[in-house]
Amino acid sequence: MTEGLCQCGCGNPTRIAPYSCKRDGWIKGKPIRFIKGHYFRLTPSGAENHNWKGGRRYNPSCGVMIMRPDHPRRSVNGYVLEHVLIVERALGHPLPANAVIHHVNRNNADNRNSNLVICQDSSYHKLIHLRMIALKACGHSDWRRCAYCKRWDSPDNLVTISCGRSYHGHCVNENNIKRYHQKHPLSSYRPHKKLTKDQVIEIRKLCNRGIPAYKIADQFGVSKSNVQQIKQNRIWKHF
Ligand SMILES: [Zn+2]
Ligand SMILES: [Zn+2]
Ligand SMILES: [Zn+2]
Repeated sequence: MTEGLCQCGCGNPTRIAPYSCKRDGWIKGKPIRFIKGHYFRLTPSGAENHNWKGGRRYNPSCGVMIMRPDHPRRSVNGYVLEHVLIVERALGHPLPANAVIHHVNRNNADNRNSNLVICQDSSYHKLIHLRMIALKACGHSDWRRCAYCKRWDSPDNLVTISCGRSYHGHCVNENNIKRYHQKHPLSSYRPHKKLTKDQVIEIRKLCNRGIPAYKIADQFGVSKSNVQQIKQNRIWKHF
């Protein structure tokens, strides 16, 4: 094997080792043996690999996977979902590109024909799961949950926006008011406060001294506009 070329046989030159490393077999200043990632080209794949488990594995999030390196729906490592193969065998032709398979009993390891349903796309599949969740939670498959109060309700009482989020109109209003007062604590509702004659005179005095209205409002527990109205003689004119 020529030194300086990748030993997988691809013929590309390898880089110079920047330091010595016993684990990787690097010697500082000499070219390394493989281009990054090419070492695995020498390890046999499939049945010849020492780790071969028969081409069938179970992935809890997707289902049973079968080794089919020639299938158009294969993953990067050459595996295809077993339920796709079963449905395609039953149909006699490949599944459309967007089609998704739903497991009726929600057990993705159970690939009996009676447990598989073809969905035209993933949004239809999501709808099936949403209806199953609603039926279990409140006994009505078409009811939806309010995003604010978290209660299930009939779609007649809810507003649903295009992304699929549902809510009560009054829940949005309450939430908006709550958020407004979190953001503007000074302007939150203050009960009507009766000022005494002395306090009004004091407020006018402070205004004339040039103290900002919001500071005076805080001091006397009234709103800023109230102070401005006193200053401009629009209220409490008789003092
Ligand atoms: Zn190579
Ligand atoms: Zn499903
Ligand atoms: Zn609500």
